[in-house]
Amino acid sequence: MKKSLMSLALIGALSVGAHAFTLGKLGNFEFKKFADNVYILPGPPMEPNEENEGFMNNPAIIEGEHGLIMIDPGGNYNVGKKIFAEVEKISKKPIIAIIDTHKHGDHWFANKTMAEKYPNVKIYALQHMIDVSKDGEADKWYGILDRLSHNLKGTKPYQFPEFAIKNGDKIEIDGQTFLIFHPKRAHTDTDVLILHVNSKTLFLGDNVMKSRLGGFDASSSILGNIKLLEDIEKAPELSLYVPGHGAPGKMHETIDPFLNYMKLLKKGAEMALEEDVEAYEIKPKVVEMMKDYVKWDAFDHQMGKHLQKIYEELEAEDE
Ligand SMILES: [Zn+2]
Repeated sequence: MKKSLMSLALIGALSVGAHAFTLGKLGNFEFKKFADNVYILPGPPMEPNEENEGFMNNPAIIEGEHGLIMIDPGGNYNVGKKIFAEVEKISKKPIIAIIDTHKHGDHWFANKTMAEKYPNVKIYALQHMIDVSKDGEADKWYGILDRLSHNLKGTKPYQFPEFAIKNGDKIEIDGQTFLIFHPKRAHTDTDVLILHVNSKTLFLGDNVMKSRLGGFDASSSILGNIKLLEDIEKAPELSLYVPGHGAPGKMHETIDPFLNYMKLLKKGAEMALEEDVEAYEIKPKVVEMMKDYVKWDAFDHQMGKHLQKIYEELEAEDE
């Protein structure tokens, strides 16, 4: 009797273990309910690496009457499988639509997994995101993520989005309404912000990160990103704000840290321009102003680059 109870307990433990989405020492990950029909799986806010298997974004699902709408399904085909197993714990309804927020592969490479499960899924993104991804950006991100996480096997051939959305679009899917906003240049020039009207949830993409810093590439505008977030904060508060990386929450707790980080960069770059010195020469002073951010993931190797970027943007504005 005792023995059979023990083996039952063991089977139970094993089956839980086999289904939990575990990433090494980082622990377990699961979808959390943030509104009536809105679930988010907050990933670890850090650079892609072997331990996180290339999973560090915030995949979300919105449950409609007949199916699920997914936002940013994840960073590669393999973590996509783990994320999908978590989706199934929330609902067995089919994934009928996916919206990708921007061109960076850590957000959309798991389109592949979801489309394999549901070949009729409609995948949406900005036309420019689709174009640049097909024109080399996907390969660039494949290289970055593969080098850092070694977990990209199966991700190619890519599952590109096929349905173009644009600024001002109102999309109705399965009784759910989404408003699409495209800032010309902010985190990149391919971003869409998605307002889920039913729950008053704003998906910000990487225009907001919390607890980690990512790159600002040549297509981005830090000044544009500041303006975007200031405009969002001027509007009436919504129920929930979801950053591309880091914890979702209320407006100010979610947006302020990253917005203030960029404002400090701007202040530092303005100081350098006034004193007629290079960005790197002012960097030690800027680091001193950034005590709240030194613990953010990737601060050491990103902040100097960001300072240089905004310095160049301000110089160009002046010309
Ligand atoms: Zn990004």
